[in-house]
Amino acid sequence: MPTQVNIKVPLLDLKAQYQTLKAEMMAAVEAVMDSQMFIGGPAIKELERQVAAYSGAAGGVGVSSGTDALLCSLMALGVGPGDEVITTPFTFFATVGSIWRVGAKPVLVDIQPDTFNIDSARVADAVTSRTRAIMPVHLFGQVADMGPILEVARRHKLAVIEDAAQAIGAEQGGVRAGAFGTAGCFSFFPSKNLGGLGDGGMIVSNDAELLDRLAMFRNHGMNPKYYHAYVGGNFRLDTLQAAGLLVKLKHLDKWSADRRANAARYDALLAGCDAATRPVVRPGNVSIYNQYVIRVPRRNELKDFLAGRGIGTEIYYPVTMHEQACFASLKLPRGSFPQAERAADEVLALPIYPELTAEQIEHVAASIRAFFG
Ligand SMILES: *Cc1c(COP(=O)(O)O)cnc(C)c1O
Repeated sequence: MPTQVNIKVPLLDLKAQYQTLKAEMMAAVEAVMDSQMFIGGPAIKELERQVAAYSGAAGGVGVSSGTDALLCSLMALGVGPGDEVITTPFTFFATVGSIWRVGAKPVLVDIQPDTFNIDSARVADAVTSRTRAIMPVHLFGQVADMGPILEVARRHKLAVIEDAAQAIGAEQGGVRAGAFGTAGCFSFFPSKNLGGLGDGGMIVSNDAELLDRLAMFRNHGMNPKYYHAYVGGNFRLDTLQAAGLLVKLKHLDKWSADRRANAARYDALLAGCDAATRPVVRPGNVSIYNQYVIRVPRRNELKDFLAGRGIGTEIYYPVTMHEQACFASLKLPRGSFPQAERAADEVLALPIYPELTAEQIEHVAASIRAFFG
């Protein structure tokens, strides 16, 4: 097959998806504008009901972002100074940042090299008398290995807060992300599989009492009006976001299936390319492929080479959490988590969005093969 250098393949093309939904989205936005009710209201409650049902959880609390979902969960569970929360060094900053912001200490556990998720077999060794919670991250759309995590949590009476920001609809053993633990946190950042018109997020849970407390913490710990049992924050989800997300949620399963089909195409086309290690989905897992992430030698060179052929890629994530300047006081130098560090040096996310054409995917795969000769 000749190389088709004229094809452009952006990392993500939100306009392609918007074109298919424009009339419905504009009607939903217009309804909110006509009502001039921008805070609270039935659209929020309906989105909470639908996302909880979609995830197999009892209820949901809409919040202002995925970051605030994590923060609000930690606050409502009373995690604070003197407490430890076990999580992964290979994640988006918000995971460890939220733990830090409530004054707790993040205790990091290295990752599995094949899934990039926390090495659940090593979580038990990280538990101390101060541990209050485990915060697994379902990275790139694949649920972390939850069996051992839930077992450790049960044994030590720890909360499990799932960072499911990249994993709405992902499954393990038939259970969906967010429904395993004490609380599950989703992000509606525009580039996530279910993306809003700006920032947004949701916490789902099977614990009715916790859901009530989360709803209070979302709104300054207030209930009834002007009576504050707790010090919460303004973590509310905008009505406009809920209205837009209700339109998109109906399409989420189709989009995730299209991402899986694109991943299967890449898998087949890259199978003969020994230099590129393809992402692994473990048996029993259903990934939603928020990202399709390969490992390669000469990663930065490949990224530039692909850019020269009109192909957008990204490095999630180039710096591990223990190597961030703001967490230097943890005193975890390079070498502390070798698998996470190696991943940070080798990973490259390829375009995987649902609207990609077979031709675009072939161009990406052919270009990778060409780079490695
Ligand atoms: C996107 C993301 C978040 C934060 O979500 P925002 O809505 O951007 O605040 C948290 N954790 C992970 C793993 C994410 O990918």
